[in-house]
Amino acid sequence: MADFCDNGTDMERLARETAIAEAGLKNTDRPSRETCAECGNVIPEARQKAIPGVELCIQCQARQEGK
Ligand SMILES: [Zn+2]
Repeated sequence: MADFCDNGTDMERLARETAIAEAGLKNTDRPSRETCAECGNVIPEARQKAIPGVELCIQCQARQEGK
């Protein structure tokens, strides 16, 4: 029972991380932005490296994906 629930959570997280990775791959020919294209907040260096060509901060990215 507990294992089943854990697997479901892992699958959801994996699907979300895969979607984020694929979104990043589409932008590999562009440099990562240091600030968010939407709100202008600083994008952490770790996020810039994790997602090549990233243009949005994590809050704006989450809001767009939530549509
Ligand atoms: Zn933003």
